[in-house]
Amino acid sequence: MPDRINSLVGQSKYAGFATSEFRKACKLVEAGILDEAKKLLVDLDSAKLRLQFYATWKEYDRLNALALRPLKDYPKIKKVGKRMPSAAIVREVYERDFWACRWCGTPVIADKPIKAMHKLFPATFYKGTTNDSMHGLMLSSRVSLDHVLPHSFGGTNDIENLVTSCWPCQFGRGNDLIERLGLSDPREREPIPTDWDGCSTLKF
Ligand SMILES: [Zn+2]
Repeated sequence: MPDRINSLVGQSKYAGFATSEFRKACKLVEAGILDEAKKLLVDLDSAKLRLQFYATWKEYDRLNALALRPLKDYPKIKKVGKRMPSAAIVREVYERDFWACRWCGTPVIADKPIKAMHKLFPATFYKGTTNDSMHGLMLSSRVSLDHVLPHSFGGTNDIENLVTSCWPCQFGRGNDLIERLGLSDPREREPIPTDWDGCSTLKF
């Protein structure tokens, strides 16, 4: 068995800094100071954040290559129930996890403020249809709901099977199994209480 690891790629300090700058920008928008908000977004190093996204993917690729058995050797289970839980459950999971990825610990940002900031500043906080045409912060720090045991392997929408994830960890792991990749179970690590709320309580 490969060594069990507790995180995929060390939490990027820069991603943590960038999410707090994003929050400052949201606060400025709330106060109607749009030019200052835009300046904060312009100053974010999108390329650096994008690199974190790709570095995490690379780490998952490495684990995938090390796995002793191919994923197709594991039996899929006929899907039962909906793939996604209600919005209320999703919110409960994010709040339980203090809006931080349970795999790598990076703070994440809710969907709504990301969409709102893109709408206000489409050229600065840009969002295309590919990873490379999207602002790096959307790749490194956007929230995602993750099933620890994937839905395709019989994972349910029970809150115990759900964790908050950043995009890199969510899309890096895909529908893979933690035991196959040699990952430790993120639920063995308690969420760390912080006052970070993913910018989810901002009103604009
Ligand atoms: Zn993560």
